[in-house]
Amino acid sequence: MGKGIGGFDKRKNKTNTMCVRSGRRSFHLQKSRCSACAYPASRIIKYNWSVKAIRRKTTGTGRMQYLRRRFLTTTAATPMVTR
Ligand SMILES: [Zn+2]
Repeated sequence: MGKGIGGFDKRKNKTNTMCVRSGRRSFHLQKSRCSACAYPASRIIKYNWSVKAIRRKTTGTGRMQYLRRRFLTTTAATPMVTR
């Protein structure tokens, strides 16, 4: 067997699968732990030595539905919902 992608097609066993919390394919099947967010641990892992990784998954990187609902009701484009 030589170098490169010679035996690459024989790799069929997946070590990581989709994580329920982070949505990344980082959930280790044998360890049953996500390497990206440490699921099923309650605390999401972050390291201060990796500033960019924190920037990618902090508050404000998601859909921010909690802000969007208030924003849409107060804009002039949509009528004010009175209850
Ligand atoms: Zn995860």
